[in-house]
Amino acid sequence: MNNTALTSSLERWFATNARDLPWRTTHRDPYRSLVSELMLQQTQVSRVVEKFEPFLERFPSVAALAEATEDEVLAAWSGLGYYRRARLLHTCAKAIVDRHEGVVPDSLDELLKLPGIGRYTAGAIASMVFGQRAPIVDGNVTRVLLRVHNKPIPQADKATVDWAWQRAEALVNACDDPATFNEAMMELGATVCVPKGPRCLQCPISAECGALAAGTTESIPLPKPRAKQKHLYCASVVMRSTRSVLLEQRPGSGMWAGMFQLPTLEREDRAHEPGELVEAGFADPEHIESFTHVTTHRIVEFAIYRASAPTKTPENLRKHPIGSLDTLAISNAQMKALRIAGILES
Ligand code: SF4
Repeated sequence: MNNTALTSSLERWFATNARDLPWRTTHRDPYRSLVSELMLQQTQVSRVVEKFEPFLERFPSVAALAEATEDEVLAAWSGLGYYRRARLLHTCAKAIVDRHEGVVPDSLDELLKLPGIGRYTAGAIASMVFGQRAPIVDGNVTRVLLRVHNKPIPQADKATVDWAWQRAEALVNACDDPATFNEAMMELGATVCVPKGPRCLQCPISAECGALAAGTTESIPLPKPRAKQKHLYCASVVMRSTRSVLLEQRPGSGMWAGMFQLPTLEREDRAHEPGELVEAGFADPEHIESFTHVTTHRIVEFAIYRASAPTKTPENLRKHPIGSLDTLAISNAQMKALRIAGILES
């Protein structure tokens, strides 16, 4: 494979094939790039497109984000999932204010010292915003490289990832413009060299692709063994008045940390019986609907109940006006529960 032939084909292709995305502006702003990179990790582009501008309107600068409370940041992040990233972005903004007077640093080393910034994000900002020859590797880039080199090996193994970083570094050093090249690799993986059914007829680097020549594109990378998902059973109880609903806040660590939810009983072995809800203090529980929510590590079976609202608000619960729920951090699963209960519109 010829490094220069590959990088120049890819850069030319990107100039006319890049998707129009809100963070892709002619002059890249470091703060916008930081926010977009954190949002894009583990979340679909279409969902990020919806949430990106409203988040930036709410927190228009590093300083504004650093000054916000964690609850405000989590609320603005609602719908993007994986809320740990929102906390990391918030901590990162505070560190940029403390260490760099609110200005995102342009050096790869300084970027890497910031909380929440790993090698990928540091490389993305250093190359795409500041034009440095810093490589980036994520799942998309690794898959493209494995196919180009016709390597039928598991994608997530440490040896594979180390190899991908070395290859990405060689390519970014051979390219014309690191910002264009890095984004083009990501774009190719996201839109053409996709996990299933790569669109090789539309691929700008097909002449350099070992897997295409060998007829192995569909079998690279090797599938990773699937981790066994644990079951969790949740009984969520709706207790409302005309204008408000009772919610609890989850603990500050663990799954859905710090987020608001309907009062919920959880167990791992089996679903709850209605009598157990009565024992837990919920009067006259009536089952409304059940649904399954699947995460990377869990299969969560939700049962939604309606119960009579207590005359006195229990200590661990707070009344929240229904009109203000969009200012709270609420997981997608609990949003669905609130819609099932008719509290939020479908
Ligand atoms: S030719 Fe096909 S498999 Fe090879 S890089 Fe292009 S899209 Fe991927």
